[in-house]
Amino acid sequence: MNKLNRSKSDKLFEEAKQYFPGGVNSPVRAFKSVEGSPLFIESGNGCIIKDQDGNRYIDFCCSWGPLILGHNNPKVKEAIISTVENGTTFGTPTAIGNEIGKLILDNHRFIDKLRFVSSGTEAVMSALRLARGYTGRDKVIKFEGCYHGHVDSLLVKAGSGLATFGVSTSAGVPESFAKDTIVIGLNDLSSVMETLEDMAHEIAAIIIEPIPANNGLLLQDQQFLVWLRQLCDKHKVLLIFDEVISGFRVGFEGAAGYYHIEPDIITFGKIIGGGMPVGAYGGKADIMACIAPDGPVYQAGTLSANPVTLAAGIATMKQLLDPQFYPTQEAKTNQFVSDIMAHVDSKNYPIHMVSIGSIFWFAFGKDRIISSDQIDPASMEHFKKMHGILLNKGVYLGPSGYEVGFISAAHTESKLKEASTIICEALDMVFG
Ligand SMILES: *Cc1c(COP(=O)(O)O)cnc(C)c1O
Repeated sequence: MNKLNRSKSDKLFEEAKQYFPGGVNSPVRAFKSVEGSPLFIESGNGCIIKDQDGNRYIDFCCSWGPLILGHNNPKVKEAIISTVENGTTFGTPTAIGNEIGKLILDNHRFIDKLRFVSSGTEAVMSALRLARGYTGRDKVIKFEGCYHGHVDSLLVKAGSGLATFGVSTSAGVPESFAKDTIVIGLNDLSSVMETLEDMAHEIAAIIIEPIPANNGLLLQDQQFLVWLRQLCDKHKVLLIFDEVISGFRVGFEGAAGYYHIEPDIITFGKIIGGGMPVGAYGGKADIMACIAPDGPVYQAGTLSANPVTLAAGIATMKQLLDPQFYPTQEAKTNQFVSDIMAHVDSKNYPIHMVSIGSIFWFAFGKDRIISSDQIDPASMEHFKKMHGILLNKGVYLGPSGYEVGFISAAHTESKLKEASTIICEALDMVFG
């Protein structure tokens, strides 16, 4: 097969290594789990990205989720440009802040108040502090396979045993931080129950990605989430939904709306900033009243709620409020998945696709995967091969088999057809 010329990207990557650790400013970008060096992207338009060598790709990474409208959406671009005309940040409240506050709170039943920050990590970090401040308790339950940003106390993994105290997965995290995190497997309700029976008086919150989408797409049964809600009520523990990916993705009200479950606090990021750096957290009024200056939980940010980010967020969210928006994205995604799966089934390849809303994932094997320990690390060799083939054929997936793909409003049916045909050809080369 012909290899695309990517010499400019290769050269830029060699140079970047002199400036940035590993040549990147976020580790997932480094192509460590796939072949070759990262693409250096020069521009994006709609569902297409163009690299520095002039190669074009149908993009299913979409900047890891924020670009639900695709690249360079005309209304978002126009909103950013017209806002920038007046300056970029003032460190004061702004009218545009009220506009986005109203837009979100009027259309989201599960939050009474909102605070903007500058990244998803910051949103989660602040939500944990809030939960601890509100409850007066220190410990947090998280689930293995859920990613919540690079918050110290959440960069932990379960040790051996059912429910265990965290072992940090990163150097530089004090043991004393990790020990306040209890890690339980997804879908493992009995461990959650036992832990709460044992020590609920020490536990501030349960945090979960209600749609776990950072370690494969590990869709949970709705009932598991319902039980978490009930257990949290029983033990006066807060339930935090980390909706940095799922928020505004599976519906305007995210996973909370999708599953009809009311969390106490929700964290946001990605889509809410329309492609600009962003995070936010919101929740019930009495909980949010604990945040400074109303309450004793301190949290601040120089560039929080800067007008440029908010303008991009507003221009994005207004388009999401069209009643046809989410049904259309979901229908396109279902068609894309069933086109590929028809081929996979006819050839009996050992792979299946998982999807919800406009998120999809290639799961290797045929069985439903609901927790991270069911993912076979050896299957990632297949992904690596597939990723390399797809790049050469003009389809860009996030550079790891643990990452999900995103379909945006800019992915037309014909582009999705083109992509699914290419993906089937790639699968033939991997498994045929
Ligand atoms: C992306 C993500 C984060 C971290 O957000 P950043 O903006 O990268 O800091 C946190 N939680 C979830 C569920 C995410 O997907």
